[in-house]
Amino acid sequence: MSTASRRLIIAGNWKMHTDVVDGASLVAEVVECTASLALAADLVLCPPFTHLAVAATQLSRSSISLGAQNMHQAPEGAYTGEVSARMLLTSGCRYVILGHSERRTYFDETNHSVNEKVKSAIAAGLTPILCVGETLQDREAGRTEQVVDEQVRQGLSDTKPESAEDLVLAYEPVWAIGTGRVATPDQADRVHGHLRTVIADMYDDDFASRIRIQYGGSVKPENAGALMSRPHIDGALVGGASLDASSFEAIVRAGLGFDGG
Ligand code: PEP
Repeated sequence: MSTASRRLIIAGNWKMHTDVVDGASLVAEVVECTASLALAADLVLCPPFTHLAVAATQLSRSSISLGAQNMHQAPEGAYTGEVSARMLLTSGCRYVILGHSERRTYFDETNHSVNEKVKSAIAAGLTPILCVGETLQDREAGRTEQVVDEQVRQGLSDTKPESAEDLVLAYEPVWAIGTGRVATPDQADRVHGHLRTVIADMYDDDFASRIRIQYGGSVKPENAGALMSRPHIDGALVGGASLDASSFEAIVRAGLGFDGG
């Protein structure tokens, strides 16, 4: 597999935090403090659905992209409370997070339903950020690679994105999300390397060498640099620390190797 140089992609997953007014202030702060960095890495903000239209207008004057945190797989229909890929696209989104462990745990999403969503997102022209990761129980039982292997193969079944830029993977060990317990750079890089071999097997070596794989799970300014300096780690999916503009900025700086971290 050739080693392609991959541009970092760092995304903030705001989850169900901030109201519309606070969200607009946070977008404005992030735009301001990352202005000189947004050209060096792909930055993405994923606020709640209610914030998307306002955020799209705010981000239209910056190089930061907009993403959503979930979507329904159907193009339209009687699915009260849901939103489709096209609704996200026409709200200004370029990315959509799919298969986040909180969706799998609290909303019973399965590899099958995630796969339906991935196919629908790609068909609509959105770039999925497909999240995979093992529980602590899986890790302790030595099943990490098997679990992420299944999540990737089933989540991407019957898909062939046109280019590696049209798909992002996020390795998010469930035991590291929101816990303050981060995977070591070695642990994360090993799993990322494994994911790349799975992608090579599913698509081809060139695609696998180009696809970007984010690490997520308690990423903070203090650990971001060491994680993103690893060969297979191409960015971060950041939850809690993305709710503070200066922390998000510090993570981007550390990822780019501008400061310590
Ligand atoms: C996430 O929500 O994807 C996440 C990684 O959260 P946190 O950074 O808070 O662990």
